[in-house]
Amino acid sequence: MVFKMNKNKIRSRFIMSKPFCRCLLYVFMIIFFMYGISFAASVKTVLVVSIDALHPDALSPETSKNIYRLMQQGSYTLDGHSTHPPKTLVSHAAMFSGLSPEKGGRKNNSWHTGELQIKGKTIFNTAKSLGFSTGFFYSKEKLGFLVNPAVDQYKLDKNFSVDNAVTFLKTADKKAFCFLHVSGLDITGPIEGWLFPGYMEELFYIDDAIAPLIRLVESKENYLIIITSDHAGHGTIHGSDHPDDEKLPFIMVSDSVDSSPYQGITWHVADLKPFLDKILK
Ligand SMILES: [Zn+2]
Repeated sequence: MVFKMNKNKIRSRFIMSKPFCRCLLYVFMIIFFMYGISFAASVKTVLVVSIDALHPDALSPETSKNIYRLMQQGSYTLDGHSTHPPKTLVSHAAMFSGLSPEKGGRKNNSWHTGELQIKGKTIFNTAKSLGFSTGFFYSKEKLGFLVNPAVDQYKLDKNFSVDNAVTFLKTADKKAFCFLHVSGLDITGPIEGWLFPGYMEELFYIDDAIAPLIRLVESKENYLIIITSDHAGHGTIHGSDHPDDEKLPFIMVSDSVDSSPYQGITWHVADLKPFLDKILK
């Protein structure tokens, strides 16, 4: 009798607690699922490299083996478009702010040290608000227009700026956002001609130079690497309304973000800010 009562009691407790257990299981599953999602999207190191004047058709295993490897490893599109006009500062201002000239973005392609800098929010504000330390390294004075209070470290280096980015990422906090602007093709293009041998040779040199930086970021967990450009050119001309002048690539590789939705898409230079707003949050 005693045994029977205990058995019933146990069974009764079990039956009563079953919905509770099921509920608990669902809660755990939801937490696990949410944690899984947030873990998947929790990027801690971001590297954006803008190779000035890079024509997407120049990319190949021969001219740019390191960038080409990233293209195979992640996702990319060669159907990227610059601003009108497709010029360095106008395009980078759209890249940073998400605003093309016709939507309130910058129209003036010139800027000198001491002049007013960008007022609206940029990709650095996105990164800073999410706890990233930020670094901006560029090779043209006019890009100084894009330095705002959300940039922790910045440096203009007309010759070379890859080392600045490497130093920043080696010494940065756990969450680091680095934007590197690489000059070279914008100088070679107008002299040698876009996609001509001298231009391809310069790309080979740039690709080789950024390789240690790429490897450094890949050695970290939860990274996002983006390789893009501001515009291209045709013959020895750029900045015109020729279709080639507005072309640019967009390449992304990450160990924690699914890049597949971006494969082969049509991209606009002003898409970078909303893209990062979405990916990094
Ligand atoms: Zn440019």
